[in-house]
Amino acid sequence: MTVIGLDDTDSRERGMCTTYLATRLASAIKQAGGQIDQRLLIRLNPAVEHKTRGNAALAVHTDVEPVRALALAVEELEPLAEVDDPRTSPGVVVADDDAEAVPKSVAAFAERAVRDLLELDDALELLETVGYRHRGWAGGRGRIGALAAVGAWRAFDEWTHEHIAYREFERCGTPRSVDETSLFRAAKAYYPQAWDTVDRVESQAVCVPNAPGPILYGIRGDDAESVCALASEVQSEPVERSATFLTNQGTDSHLRHGSIGDLRDGRAYRVDGTVTDRPETRRGGHVFVPVTDPTAGATVECVAFEPTKRFRDRVRALSPGDEVTVCGEVSDGTVKLEKFAVRALRRTAATTPTCDACGRSMESAGRDQGYRCRDCGTTAPGPATVELDRDLEPGWYEVPPCARRHIAKPLVRGGFDAPTHPAR
Ligand code: ATP
Repeated sequence: MTVIGLDDTDSRERGMCTTYLATRLASAIKQAGGQIDQRLLIRLNPAVEHKTRGNAALAVHTDVEPVRALALAVEELEPLAEVDDPRTSPGVVVADDDAEAVPKSVAAFAERAVRDLLELDDALELLETVGYRHRGWAGGRGRIGALAAVGAWRAFDEWTHEHIAYREFERCGTPRSVDETSLFRAAKAYYPQAWDTVDRVESQAVCVPNAPGPILYGIRGDDAESVCALASEVQSEPVERSATFLTNQGTDSHLRHGSIGDLRDGRAYRVDGTVTDRPETRRGGHVFVPVTDPTAGATVECVAFEPTKRFRDRVRALSPGDEVTVCGEVSDGTVKLEKFAVRALRRTAATTPTCDACGRSMESAGRDQGYRCRDCGTTAPGPATVELDRDLEPGWYEVPPCARRHIAKPLVRGGFDAPTHPAR
């Protein structure tokens, strides 16, 4: 078998899309008499600064000879890739290996590309070692993603699906026409097998992109049948072509277990800690909350940005003393929250006691002297305990679909270690 990896062909301004290129390449392979076994859409580390949007890389698994595969990929890529855009740096990698039998080093490279920051030289050195064919344009930085896409099938166990419908090419750049009534109806009918199609609270068609480019919509879900069936019920402008990809979207494959003292920028983590101060809403509506690892004595600030909408209310509901697990990318030393779990809620607080006789607040009688009512002379040995009225329950909370990162796992997919409160 032959595995073709592709990346970095699009431009933020003019909008191409590497998934479109992969889809066209698959058609060209079929026309040339070849077969397509699998199409993978791999989301790499979302913290990469060079990304155009979602840091996607693509792999096509086929039976055509590697030399022919590279020639076909180059033929498709050259007219379509936005090589004149200074930020676009396309790359193609062709492996003459079965996808599940690529060397361990290639699978490890894929894992690192999802969880870490790499250099082009890392890819070039490994390409040299394993002897894969490759081509790069305008620096060919895309070979990082292309090589990662080649290694992904061996690297990851958990796969979801995305069915992408493409527009007629001449329509690109004009407003997309997707009938929202049929879309919202179909989204409801196939939930939760298909997720993140719409955001019901924001009334947003999450599956329809805003950026220019050939994608009309992309339906994501656990199985290929559901995403295809949902798509077939959406009324829209003509669909020029469509393709269903296996992907690591919605799997949290970017998260690494860590501890608060050891966080590094540009990686995404899942860490445990205790809330140490009240959440604070700052300019722009972003909500910040400090979380501490008491054993290491280290604190990290966590933030729910304004676009995470109603998720911020869940963060605002946290109180000092709550035990939590937080997940998100670290940037400038701050965790950008994607989801969090409440492990233990602080349900009581110490407060100044009131006088049994007159009902007024007592005063401190001095250091370690308890409390005293100034008027009645009654005393209390220490503070009183009040029950806190908590608007939060133990378990996982997440950003809503409108703010979801491609790679982040929606709670409705299950497999979490505590009760979940899915946003839909
Ligand atoms: P496209 O549709 O073109 O793929 P995108 O949003 O996926 O758009 P790219 O234009 O591909 O973003 O830009 C991402 C660039 O970062 C690519 O050149 C890719 O090879 C590189 N890259 C991917 N993962 C990493 C990583 N972990 N470390 C360093 N570079 C990476």
